[in-house]
Amino acid sequence: MTGALKTSIATVSISGNLREKLEAITAAGFDGIEIFEADFIADHGSPRDVGRLVRDHGLEITLFQPFRDFETLPEPARSKAFDRAERKFDVMQELGTDLVLVCSSVHPASLGGIERAVDDFHELGERAAKRGLRLGYEALAWGRHINDHRDAWEVVRRADHPNIGLIVDSFHTLSRKLDPNSIRAIPGDKIFFVQLADAPLIEMDLLYWSRHFRNMPGEGDLDVARFMQAVMATGYNGPISLEIFNDQFRGSNPRTVAKDGHRSLVGLLDDVRRAEPELSVNMPEMPARIEPKGFSFVEFATRGAEAANLKTDLTSLGFEQVGHHRSKAAGLWQQGDIRIVVNEETSGHAASSWNARGTCVCDLGLLGSDAQAAATRASALGAEVFEQTVGAGELAIPAVRGLSGSVLHFLDDSADLSQVWQTEFSAARAPAGAGLTHIDHIAQTMSYEDMLSWSLFYTTLFDMSKAPMVDVIDPDGLVRSQAVEATNGSVRVTLNGADSHRTLAGSFLSDSFGASVQHIAFATRDIFETLEQLAARGFETLPISPNYYDDLAARFDLNDALIQNMQAQGVLYDQTGGADFFQAYTQSFSGSLFIEIVQRNQGYTGYGAPNAPFRIAAQKRLSRAKGVPRT
Ligand code: MG
Ligand code: MG
Repeated sequence: MTGALKTSIATVSISGNLREKLEAITAAGFDGIEIFEADFIADHGSPRDVGRLVRDHGLEITLFQPFRDFETLPEPARSKAFDRAERKFDVMQELGTDLVLVCSSVHPASLGGIERAVDDFHELGERAAKRGLRLGYEALAWGRHINDHRDAWEVVRRADHPNIGLIVDSFHTLSRKLDPNSIRAIPGDKIFFVQLADAPLIEMDLLYWSRHFRNMPGEGDLDVARFMQAVMATGYNGPISLEIFNDQFRGSNPRTVAKDGHRSLVGLLDDVRRAEPELSVNMPEMPARIEPKGFSFVEFATRGAEAANLKTDLTSLGFEQVGHHRSKAAGLWQQGDIRIVVNEETSGHAASSWNARGTCVCDLGLLGSDAQAAATRASALGAEVFEQTVGAGELAIPAVRGLSGSVLHFLDDSADLSQVWQTEFSAARAPAGAGLTHIDHIAQTMSYEDMLSWSLFYTTLFDMSKAPMVDVIDPDGLVRSQAVEATNGSVRVTLNGADSHRTLAGSFLSDSFGASVQHIAFATRDIFETLEQLAARGFETLPISPNYYDDLAARFDLNDALIQNMQAQGVLYDQTGGADFFQAYTQSFSGSLFIEIVQRNQGYTGYGAPNAPFRIAAQKRLSRAKGVPRT
């Protein structure tokens, strides 16, 4: 049995100078790096110094790359290519790495011809062998003559040289829709290296797509897991390396991107092991993805007059306080299965959240199949376990830090955790209130560049998947929205990425210093009945433009009474595939949040995305009318 699989990442995948990259890569937990010549050309050190610097970080140089336009050239270009190779070999020896990637030629003068390529590689293999170096041949998807890993393998097979092997790259195979299962026929010891990248499905030139839009496995739409299963089926046990060219990552925090990369790789290998248990995937075991069963609670950090406002708002929404924490300044408010914790503590996590952001959602609780397993899996995926002193009468609830400082708690049906509300809050009732039954979804707002991080966080930890990304038109810019949803529909989170601070989502982000929950949607079985009850409690819905209802009458076959009712109560409507959806919004809510009330009929699965521009316009109109300054 060999050691655990080595994880690696190409330095080009993240931003920063070489030293910053090495620090981020080490902190994320990788074993090695693929190094690009540009990395040390820009560094002050010699290749020898750079090699030492890498090893001082505890990292290994798994690959040197790339060597381009080598094979099937006519003389004199052919001899020059061999000379270039020798100079690369010198650098590799100084760096202290034995493997170089040779990508298939795009040189206009390259002649092609498999035997010519075989002869060139055999000869280069001889030269590399003299120095104890190895060469891996990679078929670029846009290679001039070789653009398919099967053809590259045929060259390697015929070259029949111990120092010549194949490099496979998921992007080059999957972007051309080649069947990854064709890799299964290749002997694992002839695959010298494996590079992984995902990408969103966009119709565009392959080269441009590859150089700008690659992303981490699981962040895009390619079936990287199936590719990786095929690789592991060969018996391959070399490094698994991320080679991600992405414009956004080049401008992002290298630590976050490296951490996401490691998370994606560890999650992917776990998927591979589960998909084909007979494969030997030598990685530490972790619990399977957790099946979510619903949101267990939402906790607000608040204080003083803001706390009083929050409680008034909750009351007008039909909530009642059903318990008070035994030892903390925290109340439990409930309606149906919705639990809101109002935390007014002056020390600890909630207090620091309030200090930084004012009233905001500081914690989320998720009910799942196994709370402890959720925390263990999250930690195996690189999440930071959250620990806070457990006071008298309190339970140790497994929790991790989510992104932007939020805390995610895990609850389950086990004997002690299922009793947390009785144990900590002596709560025993679940008032029906105005008919709000459960949390339908939570909307988190973030900068566009954080969207991939958040969706990766949810989809690697839970049995959740991504819905297609939609563009929401804010009058002042574009907001991209992507839902991540539990396969069983019990938990839905919408991730909204804002580019411009002038959008509603963007101004929320800048006003709230990165707090993420912007709205919470509560479900009801009868939105009109619920809104009537809420109106009696002084609740006001967001007024929607009358034009919206004229348009609705034109778009859908709805009776006039229903439309009048919707207009009177500020209800928006959507319909897809015979399933319909009603939604209404609060005029405002504590902090910079707002609340949505939804009714899903016939298994409607969306979020009323076509209504978002009208809702946003109405919110902006209202805030201008109230003279609330908009940043
Ligand atoms: Mg590659
Ligand atoms: Mg919503």
